[in-house]
Amino acid sequence: MRFKSLRGKLIFILLLMLSLLALATGFATLTTLKRDSELQAQHMLNVSAKVLRQALDTRAEQLSNSVRILAADFGFRRAVATAEQETIESVLHNHGNRINASLTLLLAPDGTLLASSSPTLNMADITPLFQQAAAGNDQPVAAIVSLNGQPYQLVLAPVKAPNLIAHVGMGFPLDGPLAQQIKGITGLDISFTGIRDGRHHVGNSTLSSAHRQQLPDLLSALIAQPDTVQSSPQQDYVSVALPLDQQQQLWAVQHLSNQRWLSSYRQLRSQLFYIFGAALSLSLVVAFIFARSITRPMQALSQFARHIGQGFAAAAPPGGDDEVGLLSRTLSTMQQDIQQREQQLLFNAEHDSVTGLYNRTAIERLLQQWLDSCDGSLLQLNIQQFKSINDVLGFSNGDLLLQQLAQRLQRLVPAPLLLARPGGDEFILLYPHTLLTEQVQQLIKPLLNSYKLQHSSINLKLYAGIYNFAAGQLSVNDALRRVDIALENARQMPDGIAFYQQGQDESHQRELGLIRDLPQALHNGQFFVVYQAKVNIQQPGCSSAEALIRWQHPQLGLVPPDQFIKLAEHSGNIGLISQWMLQHVIARAAHWWQSTTPLQLAVNLSVFDLLNPQLADDIAALLQQHQLPAAALALEVTESAVMEDADTVIAQLHRLRNLGITLSIDDFGTGQSSLAYLKQLPVHEVKIDRAFVKDIEHNNNDALIVRATTQLAHSLGFSVTAEGLENQAGLQQLLDCGCDKVQGYYFAKPMTATQLDAWLARLPQQLQLWFSGAPA
Ligand code: C2E
Ligand code: CA
Ligand code: CA
Repeated sequence: MRFKSLRGKLIFILLLMLSLLALATGFATLTTLKRDSELQAQHMLNVSAKVLRQALDTRAEQLSNSVRILAADFGFRRAVATAEQETIESVLHNHGNRINASLTLLLAPDGTLLASSSPTLNMADITPLFQQAAAGNDQPVAAIVSLNGQPYQLVLAPVKAPNLIAHVGMGFPLDGPLAQQIKGITGLDISFTGIRDGRHHVGNSTLSSAHRQQLPDLLSALIAQPDTVQSSPQQDYVSVALPLDQQQQLWAVQHLSNQRWLSSYRQLRSQLFYIFGAALSLSLVVAFIFARSITRPMQALSQFARHIGQGFAAAAPPGGDDEVGLLSRTLSTMQQDIQQREQQLLFNAEHDSVTGLYNRTAIERLLQQWLDSCDGSLLQLNIQQFKSINDVLGFSNGDLLLQQLAQRLQRLVPAPLLLARPGGDEFILLYPHTLLTEQVQQLIKPLLNSYKLQHSSINLKLYAGIYNFAAGQLSVNDALRRVDIALENARQMPDGIAFYQQGQDESHQRELGLIRDLPQALHNGQFFVVYQAKVNIQQPGCSSAEALIRWQHPQLGLVPPDQFIKLAEHSGNIGLISQWMLQHVIARAAHWWQSTTPLQLAVNLSVFDLLNPQLADDIAALLQQHQLPAAALALEVTESAVMEDADTVIAQLHRLRNLGITLSIDDFGTGQSSLAYLKQLPVHEVKIDRAFVKDIEHNNNDALIVRATTQLAHSLGFSVTAEGLENQAGLQQLLDCGCDKVQGYYFAKPMTATQLDAWLARLPQQLQLWFSGAPA
């Protein structure tokens, strides 16, 4: 059985125990009582059987005495002696009446019936008693005999004068009055039964007629076991049968009514039921109260535990010294522990473990209300070269430095509304007013000098990005992104301070979009190649061109490479672009290499390509694949790319040069390197940057630089290409400087392959025009 509540279970168990106990007790008591009653009934019947025998014996003796006195009576003896039938009958009748005999008879000494008060007397009924009397001495004999099926106590006494002249017999029936008399003595009912025509029949009985009718059915069983008390389920009395005569034809059956002991048994049983019922009801109440006394505090505790789980600050239910009290106290302690841990977790969730300042989560939670409510300024600080401080002094010192900086930030005047360390070496400060450059400088000043670390002092340089915002315009994310953009820009500033400018976020978003779209766009055919011819000016003609990439973006239109090449480099995608370019350009170069004016095509590479150890092998494989000689390919690398990791890049350039590829230094003059540095580079060509070429006809300095560079390059065995020539006047200068080739809008803008073919076809006439004003 399943219980929904502990209370139900407790009540059920208590009641079950009690019921079992009551049933066991009741059963034992009632069984014992029943057995005792039965024994007692048996005993009573046995006693009353003895009493019955005693009574019958006593009566037999009394009757014998009476008959003996009669037999000795002189008048009687004389009447018998006369043998006058009439006299004898009259005397028998008179004397019989005197002693209340209902049967009188006279037998001759040989047993012949001389006279009888009963005309139907059957001699066979009295023969056994007569033989006993004849065999015996002169004493009367008495026995109970069946006369015509009726039980009689029959006494035979000798009549002597002085010799035996007859036997006189007197019979006394075992009748109703006798039965009543015996009942009076024993207190038990009695029935006399006999066998007539081979069947039992009941004679006189003190039983009620209803009970009396049931008796014959029982008789055979009772008689089968004489003197044994027997009961039958159909009877409401127990009986015992006693044989009255020697032939066992006559029986006295004594009855003890069950009612006598049954009523006390029933009374006790119903008493037990009442007691049990009362005890059960009482127990139900007690069990209910008891169960409640247990479950109530437990319910309160479970409610309390639920509140703990839900985080309510509920008070523990009061408890005593028992287990419930102990549990209550334990739960209460647990509640306190949980609260403490929760507070700790809450603190940890919103605070930085190194400095104890708010972390990014806290900023995200707290910042919005300020962004909504006031104009203000978000300032993000970043330590310059913090990575090398960590590398040199170790992380623990790096942490110490961050802690000291955090302490100084906490003492700043004016104090920020919000001070947090979102991560790394970055700190965020929120002010409820906009900031100007001077104010930022004043704020930063006390943060810069003298941090004590490992007995030495360290000075910091900080970058500061500032976003001055107007109330209610931005989400936390947008604000943080903008101050981050400002910080990125601050890295490029000499004083390390930059303010967010309107529109930067949008271009930043645009850049993110480009980075995101780029890999897919390469596969989707959004890229194409244009070619810009390099014109040989010393011996006018064209034998080479530079391949430049273009991106036709479906939403943004034509995106110039200046906008995405740097992004691709920063996002690690430049390798994809270079590979794409090499594949397309090498495939295309095969076409021009076979033409009447064979063209060498140049592809721009970034420093990341040069650091790729596979590069030379990949290019060799592509050349092989398209059956293109290496001489048909040129590669342009910038001066700054080489300087990034000079040894590796120079080794890579050697490998490419060994393949037979032409190598150019691009944008020469814009980097920091000296001209002498060129000597180490295994290149064939130097491309002078557009910055020195575009105004060469006006700017003497540019002309000097171009001339010097050209001379030095030539002396090192490099050819020289000038980039960005836009007009005739500049051409003359470049010729004068001795440049070999020119790449510029003056001759050709970047064009598609088809356009370049057309341009090449027109080239001889064009050369005439371009160089007509210049000396040959
Ligand atoms: P760059 O390698 O210096 O390419 C020359 C750039 O100068 C080209 O710009 C070209 O259109 C431009 N130009 C040439 N002559 C003149 C002129 O007379 N006047 C003016 N104003 N400009 C001239 P573009 O095509 O926009 O390329 C810009 C830069 O993008 C390139 O500079 C190069 O650094 C990069 N780039 C272009 N294509 C690729 C590429 O496939 N791979 C790599 N890694 N970078 C590329
Ligand atoms: Ca170039
Ligand atoms: Ca260039």
